[in-house]
Amino acid sequence: MLKIVEINNLTAKYPDVKALDDVSFTVNQGDFLGIIGPNGAGKSTLFDCMLNLNTKYDGIIKFFDKDIRKSKDYLREIGYVPQKPIFERNFPVTVNDVVRMGLRNESDENKIDEILQQLWIHELSERRIGELSGGQQQRVFIAKALVTNPKILILDEPVTGIDQQSIDLFYSILRELNSKQKITIIWSSHDLDAVNKLANHVACLNRTLFFHGKSEKFFSDDDLIKQYSEASMQEHMHHH
Ligand code: ADP
Ligand code: MG
Repeated sequence: MLKIVEINNLTAKYPDVKALDDVSFTVNQGDFLGIIGPNGAGKSTLFDCMLNLNTKYDGIIKFFDKDIRKSKDYLREIGYVPQKPIFERNFPVTVNDVVRMGLRNESDENKIDEILQQLWIHELSERRIGELSGGQQQRVFIAKALVTNPKILILDEPVTGIDQQSIDLFYSILRELNSKQKITIIWSSHDLDAVNKLANHVACLNRTLFFHGKSEKFFSDDDLIKQYSEASMQEHMHHH
């Protein structure tokens, strides 16, 4: 098994809070990793560090065996779908425009059509992004992330505010990307059922990482699930 991501002793602080505390885990090629954790657990901070958007961390992050502080080449192997971007209804860009923004090389132009078809948004290609439903917009952003043929797809809580039918379609697309195209997927969510169904590995985060391993192991361990639920509940009470 080829190790493609390695995170060692990652700690990240903001002025008022330690968002990540000594987090270590690895991702192998072909893994479908679900990162679960309540609001405020540090999921987005973890992705920011992995994507070189937050460089104020301690510890070492390696992609393809190279420290990301030393080489940024790895970024071209990653497709990233950030936590849901919202577009104004009249924002004057089409679906096609948005997907094209993902391209780094004009010669890849014909990839756009292929990816629009694959994500069932081909018919929408001339529509303004702001006119689409949440589920359709989400598929457009995945298309944008995939148009460069990345080896790794990173998605940050991609189904927040999206209807169930779109969620089901989205999950079947993810499953296919992982199983047929062998794209390694790293995906954060707080839907335990979805993670159980889709992911083959789980990282359970709540500032510290309290589990990382095979999904079957996590979901057959009532103590771990209880621990996760209690952490989520505490976070919930804290916010309301
Ligand atoms: P998650 O994505 O799991 O909800 P985040 O990584 O967004 O968690 O946040 C982790 C903690 O860091 C939270 O307490 C949050 O309030 C804090 N935090 C996140 N981003 C910032 C920021 N830019 N500045 C200050 N604090 C932040
Ligand atoms: Mg987040």
